[in-house]
Amino acid sequence: SATGNSDLDIAGQAVMRPIEEIAAAAGIPADALELYGRYKAKVDPSRLPPVPGKSPGRVVLVSAMSPTPAGEGKSTVTVGLGDAIAATGRRTVIALREPSLGPVFGLKGGATGGGHAQVLPMEDINLHFTGDFHAITSANNLLAALIDNHLQQGNELGIDPRRITFKRVLDMNDRALREIVIGLGGTSGGVPRQDGFDITVASEVMAVFCLARDRTDLKERLGAITVGHTREGRPVTAGDLGAAGAMALLLRDAFKPNLVQTIDGTPALVHGGPFANIAHGCNSVVATETARGLADIVVTEAGFGADLGAEKFIDIKARLAGCQPSAVVVVATVRALKMHGGVPKDRLGEPDDAALRAGLANLERHVGNVRRFGIEPVVAINRFATDSEAELDLVAQWCAGRGVAVAVADVWARGGAGGAELATRVLEVLDRGQEAHPLYPLGLDVAEKIETVVRKVYGGGAVEYSVQALRRLAEIHEAGLDGLPVCMAKTQYSFSDNASLLGAPEGFTLHVRDLIPKTGAGFIVVLTGAVMTMPGLPKDPAALRMDVDGAGRAVGLF
Ligand code: ADP
Repeated sequence: SATGNSDLDIAGQAVMRPIEEIAAAAGIPADALELYGRYKAKVDPSRLPPVPGKSPGRVVLVSAMSPTPAGEGKSTVTVGLGDAIAATGRRTVIALREPSLGPVFGLKGGATGGGHAQVLPMEDINLHFTGDFHAITSANNLLAALIDNHLQQGNELGIDPRRITFKRVLDMNDRALREIVIGLGGTSGGVPRQDGFDITVASEVMAVFCLARDRTDLKERLGAITVGHTREGRPVTAGDLGAAGAMALLLRDAFKPNLVQTIDGTPALVHGGPFANIAHGCNSVVATETARGLADIVVTEAGFGADLGAEKFIDIKARLAGCQPSAVVVVATVRALKMHGGVPKDRLGEPDDAALRAGLANLERHVGNVRRFGIEPVVAINRFATDSEAELDLVAQWCAGRGVAVAVADVWARGGAGGAELATRVLEVLDRGQEAHPLYPLGLDVAEKIETVVRKVYGGGAVEYSVQALRRLAEIHEAGLDGLPVCMAKTQYSFSDNASLLGAPEGFTLHVRDLIPKTGAGFIVVLTGAVMTMPGLPKDPAALRMDVDGAGRAVGLF
């Protein structure tokens, strides 16, 4: 209803300004703007005039402690903090990922923030938006079709149909497509082989899209994607199949960042959205760099907890794009702290100071990790209506006792106004003039890189490799790929590879099951535990509560 207070209701009560006004205020000229209706536009970075004397905006990265399954409010705090910094008069642009339809209709919900800290129009952004994910899906599936057509037309490259690793994708949670057989129907139906679908956001094309600096780089990275191997074991790439040009053509419009606004009217570039497990989990390099060109301060987010999101942002994306953060916010909630202190998930609403205190061990390790990257962290306590003042005080006192900057963020309830204190703490860190640095040099070999992350960031004691992983390590070395960064695929719920090991476990052994060189994206995925690249829908999918009314208004989008 229009008087309710779901995210959709609150978004519906907001008055949006025409996107041209938001663009003009952000310094985007009309001829760099391509309108998608009244409240969305693509920005063509090649048409943005350089601002004389302006240095690139500094990056504020929003990350989190190890979360509960509901999420700790990183997107919400990112939007609210962006609003709060903009309210101080500084030129500010927010840079976020685009939501995937899988989580929207499944369990997790959208990715446009929450309460009074949202980007708008939330129903458009959470559904088809400007069609980027459809374009990425099409580019991916064009390559898949070219692979199978190559087999059908005589297989000149000698691709082994049993060693094709490149998969078709769909932006939907659909477990029935995980393992399939294709090419049935006789000689005109293609070459039969086992195949499968991944979700679009888990694809290498998505990762490439988000890491490419420009169109030339995009095409090169697409061409460098390994699709499989020949019978002799030689890798075959998208470039070998001649696919890169047409794939880049399909991504022609998608590659331009999307401009929208927050409830408070702060400009936000929402662009790209790779998974945070099998990929690096943050918005596109093009959007981040566009935002830095326009603004003095760019507030952005990395998926999962700081052990995964912040580490990958700093070691993969920022190393490549030169956009190292100057401030890192660690979002914490009373709920998550209690969970890490041993309270079962269904009792997180009840007061339990002993558990809250015990759970601080998890936050403490994340705080230490941010310092290891060369940045003084700011803890944002994302306030929920169920939190008591005593609980919030306990966390704030603990931070103060350790010299950690902290602020309660009340942005869900109050928008930018509820983030004023957090903005002050973040601006104080920016005044220090720090810049994050990677954890490890690229010159280490792959096993040394993994060990560095496990010991220094996770607090683990050892790394154990499966027979398969050891074989892969040797192959990676022989192929000359040791210089790539590692992209850890690990549960977000624990520092270890065991989701139920909460708090701050120490001395554990991390098990590496397999390694996958992503030669287009330019990183080595390190698989620990089971990683889902095509999720399924839950028993009670969010889709069952959604509808559209007679006037075309969305209903039930959380
Ligand atoms: P994350 O980015 O960490 O996954 P989100 O910002 O997407 O988390 O928030 C997850 C959900 O929790 C959203 O539905 C959001 O509306 C809700 N939420 C976030 N912060 C609060 C809060 N302080 N009070 C109530 N609900 C919140």
